[in-house]
Amino acid sequence: MTRIVLASSNPGKLAEFNDLLADSGLQVDSGLQVEPQSAFNVPDAEETGLTFVENALLKARHASRISGLPALADDSGLCVAHLRGAPGLYSARYSGTHGDNASNNARLLRELDGVPTGQRGAFFICVLVLLQHADDPAPVIAEGRWHGHVLTEQRGTHGFGYDPLFLPEDETVSAAELPPGLKNRISHRGRALALLRSQLGEVHR
Ligand code: IMP
Repeated sequence: MTRIVLASSNPGKLAEFNDLLADSGLQVDSGLQVEPQSAFNVPDAEETGLTFVENALLKARHASRISGLPALADDSGLCVAHLRGAPGLYSARYSGTHGDNASNNARLLRELDGVPTGQRGAFFICVLVLLQHADDPAPVIAEGRWHGHVLTEQRGTHGFGYDPLFLPEDETVSAAELPPGLKNRISHRGRALALLRSQLGEVHR
């Protein structure tokens, strides 16, 4: 059994990763057990990077250094082309208060007020980083993107964050109207995890 520390203090994320890993078969194949960084008294890392991948690396290295275990970190957000990639790294606190989904969505709608559908293109991005140890010079990095556009009003009650405002390409319903299992499979996070899984297959050959 390989224990991996998850570089996040979000309890929902641990469940999500364990679910996704179970779905992907990775836990069975490789005997992975993901544990939260809180179990090792790892405080939140300072996210000083300018990109998702830099922040994911910072978080993974920090958690691995303190726990002495391999570490998995993710960083994710929504990038809107018309807003030059905003909310981007600041997705969780776009309106100023961390994790306030309602006001983050309200700000996004304000910023795009009057912008026509054709210019409301956006994508969710998730970067996953797996470090074998804190000084690992060759991290496994997997990135998933989920393209679509920003709606003019919220639709649906599933999911979290910007899901009610995101219409994925090839779908007729918002991300918050998709059944959660389906969202997990086709989302930026699901795609990054599928990629990570195939890259791990390569790493462990
Ligand atoms: P983090 O990866 O937990 O830091 O997430 C950053 C922020 O990006 C979240 O707080 C959400 O606002 C947004 N976000 C990331 N993934 C999703 C998603 O799947 N749906 C909706 N919002 C998301």
